[in-house]
Amino acid sequence: MKTWFISDLHLDIHRPEIIQLFLEFLEQIKPQADALYILGDLFEYWVGDDMLELPKFKSFSAVISKLNELNQAGVDLYFIAGNRDFLIGDDFAKKTGCQLLPDHYLIQLYGKATLIMHGDTLCTDDIEYQKLRTILRSENWQKTFLNLSIEERIQQAQELRDTSKRKTITKQAYILDVNQTVVENIMQEHHVTQLIHGHTHRMASHSFSLNKQTAKRIVLGDWHDAAHFLAVDSDRYILQ
Ligand code: MN
Repeated sequence: MKTWFISDLHLDIHRPEIIQLFLEFLEQIKPQADALYILGDLFEYWVGDDMLELPKFKSFSAVISKLNELNQAGVDLYFIAGNRDFLIGDDFAKKTGCQLLPDHYLIQLYGKATLIMHGDTLCTDDIEYQKLRTILRSENWQKTFLNLSIEERIQQAQELRDTSKRKTITKQAYILDVNQTVVENIMQEHHVTQLIHGHTHRMASHSFSLNKQTAKRIVLGDWHDAAHFLAVDSDRYILQ
């Protein structure tokens, strides 16, 4: 039995092949999973759980049912919000059987204290993004946004996405990556030597020294062209 970690699938109704890939992935891991941790950006965008009622998003219903099927089969499901799907709410949680976790969360991974997160909070060199994040994560903004009609919300989400894409092109690579000092500070605050996150789409396992101990930061891959995951059991880590 293994514990699985995924992030950055960016599921989109316009890319049915990735939705299909995810459904197959869930079917494959079902008999060999203790738990599945989804570390954000499962969806390309999420404007509120009521979007599932729109006929155009009906391909997401299969994802919801499949997740629920895993949960019913005894797989613990956990979700940490990404920068695209932070409006996933209680209705989604109830329908899938996912437990919604806070932004930074400490788990015991077969005895190893491990901090898990989406990873956007580590990218502090992107000051512009961090400012936007503070607004989007505020209760005030979310309340106002969720009161808009669903069409208006989709429109705004698309505009935010387009702006973010335009700006990303102009930003230097280091700005879009994690800040190592922030990584080390957060790990020390939580007394861990292991961190798992996504967001940057730069799949890798980084080792470095932290308080004279070897620390590890595992970055999950995105699902742009293929399924990527981290699978952990009591004696090994598979990152692919
Ligand atoms: Mn992200």
